[in-house]
Amino acid sequence: MLMLSVKHWIGGSLVDGAGDRRLPVYDPATGETQAEVVAATADEVRAAVRAALDAQPGWRAASLSRRAEVMFRFRDLVDANRKEIASLLSSEHGKTVADAGGEVARGLENVEFAAGAPHLLKGGYSEQAATGVDVYSIRQPLGVVAGITPFNFPAMVPMWMFCNALVAGNTFVLKPSEKDPSVSLLLADLLRRAGLPDGAFNVVQGDKVAVDALIADPDVRALSFVGSTPVARAIYEAGTRAGKRVQALGGAKNHMVVLPDADVDAAADAAVSAGFGSAGERCMAVSVVVAVGSAGDALVPAIASRLGKIRVGPASDPDSEMGPLITREHRDRVASYLELGEVVVDGRAAVDGPGFFLGPSLVDNVDTASPLYTDEIFGPVLSVVRVDTYDEALKLVNDNPYGNGTAIFTRDGGAARRFQYDAVCGMVGVNVPIPVPVAYYSFGGWKASLFGDLHMYGPEGLQFYTRTKVVTSRWPDPATSEVDLGFPKVR
Ligand code: NAD
Repeated sequence: MLMLSVKHWIGGSLVDGAGDRRLPVYDPATGETQAEVVAATADEVRAAVRAALDAQPGWRAASLSRRAEVMFRFRDLVDANRKEIASLLSSEHGKTVADAGGEVARGLENVEFAAGAPHLLKGGYSEQAATGVDVYSIRQPLGVVAGITPFNFPAMVPMWMFCNALVAGNTFVLKPSEKDPSVSLLLADLLRRAGLPDGAFNVVQGDKVAVDALIADPDVRALSFVGSTPVARAIYEAGTRAGKRVQALGGAKNHMVVLPDADVDAAADAAVSAGFGSAGERCMAVSVVVAVGSAGDALVPAIASRLGKIRVGPASDPDSEMGPLITREHRDRVASYLELGEVVVDGRAAVDGPGFFLGPSLVDNVDTASPLYTDEIFGPVLSVVRVDTYDEALKLVNDNPYGNGTAIFTRDGGAARRFQYDAVCGMVGVNVPIPVPVAYYSFGGWKASLFGDLHMYGPEGLQFYTRTKVVTSRWPDPATSEVDLGFPKVR
């Protein structure tokens, strides 16, 4: 049977891969290979960077309103094609179509933010900084920038990056996850239809070989990465060594602290939604519930009773609430953690047939030395750690090497205020289990969840994709001109 091969998008059109390495794209619900990625060679990556380089001067010269207009049109096209985008991404990722629709909606926020970005690209102006001298700052694009994205949000995470990068006048090369690559091509086509010039947005399909070529390419000025911590760290180190600006977002172990005064049903609903949505394959998923004092006694049965009701099935079934995992190897790895603890709900019963399914699973009284606690499992396994006091709960959050998101559930405003102040973590939820900031704030963790200085999207995203130039200007009367070897003073 002729296997569908996923193409690159270079210079404004689809391009067949010429490499000889083929990577499978599965249908995670059936376990079958539905397409192949022909992994990009270094030469193909160079062709994409070249196209972006050629397009950049023209795109940079386009007026701010013209660049914003492309974002407005792209917004309308994404909106009009929500269903198509959602079903395409769920067919390769496995998440339910409703969840994929949520991903598209959160991606759309970033397009809307970018459409209004000219406001944030304004510089400052100081008139009469010295006699007859004005000083002003302008923000200029970096040139060609690249994004490397993970499998778990194949539409939203690229939109976190390229909307701000493009509106600021950069051109872009995207290296999406090889596991669910097709939606990037649909987005590329929508950008073309929105009026983006050819070459301003390019997609190279592939893996480490393509990423290494982007890192080595001196014409790529900045790298945005989202993925696992070891790769984030390696790309940050190699990219900065090569003189690039890098923001590299890594993995997570998000703790949801539940105090004894919290509403048990609301906390259980939140833990289940945030632990098992998208089968736990979210960097902001709650993977540890830290039950303080007596909280665990009611909470664990309340969570367990909800897990039996979750309908696990293929994304194509509108009744499914939770789909399969991304690959068989990943599913088996996630399931193996259930050997390690006090299993209250065992999802391994859902493992029958060729699809990569694992049912929602709950493990109680998890030891913080266990890999159940120390590893980012990235699947539908929720651990409960029981502690006696708020201070012990806080210590767990703060001592954890990751610092992406955390949440506290309580009815005590003072405790919540204290937690917000104390937590060593980039994003904090107060009775909100997945505190992903709206697009006009920025997204990013601390510690091993982010390497670099600037967070992603929102105002920090625009900062990342621009550099500031400060102009000091004087229009003197030639009659007053003279030589003065003293250091310029303002007073
Ligand atoms: P991954 O690190 O395996 O892959 C991410 C990207 O890097 C892919 O495009 C992949 O092709 C590429 N890559 C993989 N290995 C590489 C290597 N050795 N050298 C260069 N490039 C390489 O991550 P994943 O499995 O696709 O995604 C899941 C991970 O992403 C989880 O750890 C999750 O927490 C994390 N994630 C983090 C955030 C965040 O905002 N912090 C968001 C989403 C996902």
